[in-house]
Amino acid sequence: MTRTADVIVIGAGVIGAATAFELAKEGRRVIVADRLTQAGHGSTAGSCAIIRMHYSTFDGTAFAWEGYHYWRDWADYLEARDEPLAQFKEVGCLVMKTAMNEGLVKHMENSAKLSCPFEEWDPARICEALPIYNLDRFAPAKRLDDPSFGEPTGGALEGAVLWPNAGYVTDPALSAQNLLEAAKRWGAEAVLGHEVTGVLQNAGRVTGVSLSDGSELHAPVVINVAGPASAKINAMAGVLDDMTIETKPLRQEVVHVPSPAGFDFEANGMIVSDSDISLYCRPEHGNNILVGSEDPECDTHQWVNDAAYDENFTDQWTTQAQRYAQRVPSLGIPSRMKGVVDLYDASTDWIPIYDKSSLGGFFMACGTSGNQYKNAPIAGKLMAALVAHEESADHDTDPLVFDLPYIGEKVNAGFYSRKRPINEESSFSVLG
Ligand SMILES: Cc1cc2nc3c(=O)[nH]c(=O)nc-3n(C[C@H](O)[C@H](O)[C@H](O)COP(=O)(O)OP(=O)(O)OC[C@H]3O[C@@H](n4cnc5c(N)ncnc54)[C@H](O)[C@@H]3O)c2cc1C
Repeated sequence: MTRTADVIVIGAGVIGAATAFELAKEGRRVIVADRLTQAGHGSTAGSCAIIRMHYSTFDGTAFAWEGYHYWRDWADYLEARDEPLAQFKEVGCLVMKTAMNEGLVKHMENSAKLSCPFEEWDPARICEALPIYNLDRFAPAKRLDDPSFGEPTGGALEGAVLWPNAGYVTDPALSAQNLLEAAKRWGAEAVLGHEVTGVLQNAGRVTGVSLSDGSELHAPVVINVAGPASAKINAMAGVLDDMTIETKPLRQEVVHVPSPAGFDFEANGMIVSDSDISLYCRPEHGNNILVGSEDPECDTHQWVNDAAYDENFTDQWTTQAQRYAQRVPSLGIPSRMKGVVDLYDASTDWIPIYDKSSLGGFFMACGTSGNQYKNAPIAGKLMAALVAHEESADHDTDPLVFDLPYIGEKVNAGFYSRKRPINEESSFSVLG
């Protein structure tokens, strides 16, 4: 069976569903195709769903500050009816000042230019908010088998910066489902449970995709939002050759540990990014603390196949838990490992690609590098604007200048080009 549309979106994760929503609102006939049977069950489901604003580049900060507003106004943005909605918890994000982030000077400058609120905290203020914290320095991060693991390396953290509007979304898979439902209200269709096995093309233009059940979806525009499988889809389309930025799946383990006795982290904690111990954390349901890695050099990057990787916890889980216990000495580490194993779609410079490709009508929103959940709504708007821009211009030579409506800024969307030089301002980590 063949179905036709104006646009096919490959991937019903949070970014694919947001892209479908924005395109459908413009009156385009959209089909979202996903190999899974429910939206949001790819890497979106494993996301820590932290909505923060501190990025090392100005464009990254602007995009994230814009992105925050959609989560704050989630029901209005979706034009939701009475369906259950993902919840945004605005708990703030505290970022420790370290040598690695150069005291956050650049991050504060970026935020100040955008009137994005932040406040500087001294050590006393940090300990007032987080009495369970020990501010000794431990950098550089070490593996557990290093004999000096856990020994302070001298001095103490000198302060931090709080971004009070940051927060997290309680159920990221549900947020993708909310977006897909919103897209359907504007006429989008979902074809779920069948893998895209080929990208159809004719005379230098995309014409659709083939699916694992033998059917085809036909459209003059196809957008690759396949998350950690993005490189495979780009290879199917034959568009890898002119890309300077590569995307590949990177395995991650996320730890859930109980709050230490006497402190309810779920109620009173916040997001903390702590490059001194190469971790970030946030409150997690059930009075737990969720602990993710900031990928220090001593941890080998686990590049994997997105369709076949180890979904069990390894000693990486214990390493992250023990690293966090350096900062929270009263932390109890249970013998039963709980948390998440999932994949980033990491790009060469840890900045996403939102772009067209060398194949006419074929676009990509990929390389999200563990840090683009927060930007899904604005990334969806950007992809819809790119599709429209390409109808009368060539984004490669005449890049789209894109409005960020909430914050009243404009960005040059060429920043996210697949052909950009590697961005040396990046942190080259999940921090973007
Ligand atoms: C552990 C972890 C923690 C993270 N924490 C944060 C965070 O705190 N804050 C933040 O901003 N970002 C975070 N991220 C990143 C964020 O979650 C992702 O950038 C975002 O969810 C990507 O959404 P997506 O729609 O692009 O991809 P996905 O959700 O992966 O969706 C891609 C979809 O494509 C489908 N697909 C793939 N191949 C095919 C095919 N051949 N045929 C049909 N369908 C296909 C998949 O089934 C999947 O549903 C984190 C990511 C991980 C893994």
